[in-house]
Amino acid sequence: MTELAATNLKKYNMYVNGEWIEPSNGEYFQSYNPATGEPWCYIAKGTAEDVDKVVHAAHRAFLNSEWANMTFTERGRLVRKLGELIAERAEELAEFETRDNGKLIREMRGQLKYLPEFFYYYAGLADKIHGETLPIDKRDMFVFTSKEPLGVVAAITPWNSPLYLTTLKLAPALVAGNTIVIKPSEVTSASLLELVKLVEEAGFPPGVVNVVTGFGQPVGDSLTSHPLVRRVAFTGGPETARHVVRNSSENFAKVTLELGGKSPNIVFDDADPANAAMGIIAGIFGASGQSCVAGSRAFLHVDIYDKVMQILVDRVSQIKIGDPLMDETEMGPLATKTQLERVEKYVDLGINEGGKLITGGKKPGGFKQGWYFEPTIFEHTNNKSRITREEIFGPVLSVIPFKEEEEVIQLANSTDYGLAVGIWSKDGARAHRVAKAVRAGIVWVNTYRSISPIAPIGGSGLSGFGREGGYEAINEYMQSKVVWINTSTESIPDPFIMR
Ligand code: NAD
Repeated sequence: MTELAATNLKKYNMYVNGEWIEPSNGEYFQSYNPATGEPWCYIAKGTAEDVDKVVHAAHRAFLNSEWANMTFTERGRLVRKLGELIAERAEELAEFETRDNGKLIREMRGQLKYLPEFFYYYAGLADKIHGETLPIDKRDMFVFTSKEPLGVVAAITPWNSPLYLTTLKLAPALVAGNTIVIKPSEVTSASLLELVKLVEEAGFPPGVVNVVTGFGQPVGDSLTSHPLVRRVAFTGGPETARHVVRNSSENFAKVTLELGGKSPNIVFDDADPANAAMGIIAGIFGASGQSCVAGSRAFLHVDIYDKVMQILVDRVSQIKIGDPLMDETEMGPLATKTQLERVEKYVDLGINEGGKLITGGKKPGGFKQGWYFEPTIFEHTNNKSRITREEIFGPVLSVIPFKEEEEVIQLANSTDYGLAVGIWSKDGARAHRVAKAVRAGIVWVNTYRSISPIAPIGGSGLSGFGREGGYEAINEYMQSKVVWINTSTESIPDPFIMR
């Protein structure tokens, strides 16, 4: 769609240097409500020219004394204020998210109410960021390090949790003294454009926080290859991540990648079967499986297999699918038609590869519109088929039996991803052993999908690199400067006279 149709749909412009600007080509595109499959607002279709404009604005703001000379304490205060304003509008922002990506209002409400905690956490860290004095091995030298911001940060996010995934980048980037250009997913831009309305009210100078909207081509591409961008924080799929790394390498921008996973829940024979089943269900059917940490594989010990499987199937076949804005709904639609088609393809593939379809596997009856799919469980005898190895990003669980601890560690690690692992066992020593042996950035024992601003997230392999959240995320947005001071009163000898 290149022109605004004569409708009353809301129209969003881009937020640049504290102002709302139209895209340079005047074009907008539609954003769809996954529950109805209908468009509900228009988003500005940014161009390479717009990206250049917004990056220059962010760069000017970075150099401007109003921001550059602010103390860490003052920056922390602004970040805290932004968190407080988000808390006031949490309910409304949650509704924007649900309308845009189809996730349950119940889940988004919970996420949005918790989101300010991330701003408060980083605001609290602001005046604890410091360098150190080094016990240098040279007489008459006083040497210290200081922490400095990097410059313009490009933050690129996917559609599944737009505000949460933006916050993980925005709060530490600001506390560290950077300025930021955020490019949300073209599928879910509205909630962020609502959130940035609070930036000015919080007291940030113009240009410190900016939003450019549009598609990967040209917006994502020109943003990640822009010479003034010093840091790229990307969350999305591995294929896009490869473009991002290639682009940012042109200018040696520092990069972190938060990508997908094929995360397993491992259930040992001494686990509480009902708890494990609930953890598995929350891990894969929460958010209709559209979560980077979706527990899409379940390894069940043969001695507990039937019991856990029974609870799983009983509960999953009762899941209430429906309008995500209704409080009683337990599973909403997928975020896009493309995503629905992708899930359908994987289910066909699973059947063709010899997986046994236990429940689900199709669109639910009774829905004339919207991108709904049933919660689906497959049984497999091994971890070799494509649906047990590739990320689906939908409500499809693969269940696989195992007998030995060594065997299940090998099965859990037999993927190119390395994001999250769930371990279900009452044996603490075993939980520690397995937690150490699995390849993952996050391990949950007798719980799944727990998050906190204090705990870092991230992975290895196809799941990316770098960490978001927690104290260490601050270092991802800063660099050290070392300062040498000669305190000697002696004159400096001629460097060409050998001593
Ligand atoms: P995606 O990779 O298609 O898109 C992510 C973002 O990248 C979007 O904003 C998109 O417009 C942008 N983009 C596309 N092409 C680009 C380019 N050439 N240069 C720069 N940017 C470009 O991902 P998606 O489909 O929106 O989201 C699903 C993926 O995100 C899944 O793989 C999922 O596992 C992953 N994810 C990871 C985490 C995590 O924290 N590890 C969280 C959520 C989602």
